[in-house]
Amino acid sequence: MSFDTAKIRADFPILSREVNGKPLVYLDNGASAQKPQVVIDTITRAYAQEYSNVHRGLHYLSNLATEQYEAVRGTIARFLGVSDERQIVMNSGTTEGINTVAYGWAMPRMQAGDEIILSVMEHHANIVPWHFLREKLGVKLVWVDVDANGDLDPDKVLGAITDRTRLIAVTHLSNVLGTVVDVKSICDGACQKGVPVLVDGSQAAVHMPVDVEEIGCDFYAITGHKLYGPSGSGAIYIHGDRMAEMQPFMGGGDMIREVSKEAVTYNDPPMKFEAGTPGIVQMIGLGAALDYMMGLGMDNIAAHERQLRDYARDRLDGLNWLNVQGRSAGKAAIFSFTLEGAAHAHDISTILDKKGVAVRAGQHCTGPLMEHLGVAATCRASFGLYNTTQEVDTLVDALELCHKLLD
Ligand code: PLP
Repeated sequence: MSFDTAKIRADFPILSREVNGKPLVYLDNGASAQKPQVVIDTITRAYAQEYSNVHRGLHYLSNLATEQYEAVRGTIARFLGVSDERQIVMNSGTTEGINTVAYGWAMPRMQAGDEIILSVMEHHANIVPWHFLREKLGVKLVWVDVDANGDLDPDKVLGAITDRTRLIAVTHLSNVLGTVVDVKSICDGACQKGVPVLVDGSQAAVHMPVDVEEIGCDFYAITGHKLYGPSGSGAIYIHGDRMAEMQPFMGGGDMIREVSKEAVTYNDPPMKFEAGTPGIVQMIGLGAALDYMMGLGMDNIAAHERQLRDYARDRLDGLNWLNVQGRSAGKAAIFSFTLEGAAHAHDISTILDKKGVAVRAGQHCTGPLMEHLGVAATCRASFGLYNTTQEVDTLVDALELCHKLLD
């Protein structure tokens, strides 16, 4: 199937609007992606025609909403290459997914002196829950650096394992550098040593095909709003063996079987880990987004984005006053940069915005990585399936203007 970007762009109504009198060039996909019309229509229909609470009702609409909501579990399983959809816990996104593992799996199993290995390029969502365990239990966080290209050597990660290591928590794709981590090698090596691995797939699942059974991880977290779906939607894959070890972390409706004054019994997994009324319509919208992506083909999306990456890398390399962070050969189309001299990332992004180019400026929720890179903040241009090489040109023109104005 050829990748018809013009046709794809027409699926995203927001892409035809102007910002500051200029056509929108949306390069902030790493923070959140825009939504195709099919997702917007699905959400509208769900609220306008098919809405009710799920699971508990016996009436027509409740059954319909339950059917549609539960079908998404199967869609997510298909999207992630999971053969048993009962290993998918639906939630509001990666942050909730990782906290579920921290409180439900790690907290009851870990004690003072136990170690969790993290890479220095983790997002705060894959750092702060582990700091909670450090504060509450005295667990030790063991950090593994990336090399000068922003690559994470799997052997360095595996070399950090000791007899106190209880978990490796690592990103599959850096939201700042675009580095793709060889999580399969990490999982293979960790499995031999009996160490479970949590993979933060928030960025990877957007840009490339993911097969968690092939990777062999224990936990794999995704977040819907980056996957062209609604905010407040997401999921985490939890291997059945780990799920059996987990305790519920949030209590409430839906996750129970029976509650009396004296006792409580729990629902079967995965419902045991899904307390309260879920994001019904958000999840139904996520199902439409994943169907949309799978319809385009994840291999096709990845191929299109590789072309964009190569083109952007060549053009940005031509700007000798631009410091691009992370030069990994196989990285995704995500570029973080600073300008030589004193220009702050916020000033750069404000000037780009005047040209209609939306990028993100700041620390990107990666404090330890910023420290490692020795920068206070960066500007980040992160591409998605609807971006074009012409938009790369617009970015470069706008950066040249920044250089002129800020130098
Ligand atoms: N992990 C990575 C690599 C991310 O890029 C993000 C979002 O920026 C997250 C985790 C957190 O995702 P959410 O805020 O949707 O829970």
